Amino acid sequence: MIVVMAVGATEQEAEGVRELVRSSGLTPHDNYGTQRIVIAVLGDVAPQREHLMSKLSVMPGVDTVTAISRPFKLTSRESHPEDTIIEIGDTRIGNGTLTIMAGPCSIENREMMLATARCVAKAGATVLRGGAYKPRTSPYSFQGLGIEGLKFLQEAGEMTGLPTITEVMEPSQVEVVAQHADILQVGTRNMQNYSLLTAVGKAGKPVMLKRGYGAMIEEWLMSAEYIVSSGQPNVILCERGIRTFDTYTRNTLDLTAVPVLHHLTHLPVIVDPSHATGKRWLVKPMSLAAVAAGADGIMVEVHPQPEEALSDGEQSLTYEQFTDLTDDLLRIHEQVRTLIKDPYAMTGPVKVDGSSKP
Ligand code: PEP
Ligand code: MN
Repeated sequence: MIVVMAVGATEQEAEGVRELVRSSGLTPHDNYGTQRIVIAVLGDVAPQREHLMSKLSVMPGVDTVTAISRPFKLTSRESHPEDTIIEIGDTRIGNGTLTIMAGPCSIENREMMLATARCVAKAGATVLRGGAYKPRTSPYSFQGLGIEGLKFLQEAGEMTGLPTITEVMEPSQVEVVAQHADILQVGTRNMQNYSLLTAVGKAGKPVMLKRGYGAMIEEWLMSAEYIVSSGQPNVILCERGIRTFDTYTRNTLDLTAVPVLHHLTHLPVIVDPSHATGKRWLVKPMSLAAVAAGADGIMVEVHPQPEEALSDGEQSLTYEQFTDLTDDLLRIHEQVRTLIKDPYAMTGPVKVDGSSKP
């Protein structure tokens, strides 16, 4: 249930709402918009929905009270109509900005991390990526440099002035990763690792949640809900391809997810065409397509010598390819901004019964 306070409602009136919610055995959760406060009511609302709705709707300062039939609440558009914008230093992610996350799949050594960082920063990257803890399908593949790699990433971030992102694979790694990086990444294999989601939600840093390769959009948003309800409102969703019957590409990039997510949630949406396609030559067209579809940015892998890479060389761009990509991406983004001022507006209002179709 969502309680939208009137424009100009006082803090005392909002507190009156929170008190009634608490005394009903439920939890109020505030979202401050630019104009008004929206209070989400969390917990098992169903048994007292009618009674509570009629009491809340006549309280002073309350504009509207709506039931949310969707299982995700804090991540839903209804609870937070404005786009979430994540600010890390001078970098803003979400709501029409173009975020370009780039860097190596794995941090292999200090020199390659610093050299790649220098190149991607020069070419226009806005966030630096690099894997220190690597989730590899084979136990015999390179597993990452761990803490040593985190230090190289941090140094590269400080050198370029770019915020950094890196994957955390288990709750015991959360603290150290949060000490060295600006954004914590939860990978596709861990999208439904609920103890990890809760742990990253409590770490005090923005989180990027990749879509499970077999996950439905609703399951993905429920996983994001774990993070937000654990205390971290700044969650980025990353579409990185799902498994289908076609094996020509590594995964199938589900670009439909981009406008669908803008319709359902206020969280920023990033697309990763590197893991989605597994093929270097497909990264550029799918990056451009992602931005054309309204994505808030992309994440791509870049390597100084892809043929020598310790992981994911086939899908990593060379410096030249990355520079060529960012040039075109900026142009497409500029065009899209004039065509789609607000991708959410294109989808029409979200109805609370879940029946709304764009
Ligand atoms: C990665 O980005 O390094 C990665 C392993 O991606 P995914 O979890 O999408 O496979
Ligand atoms: Mn990779």
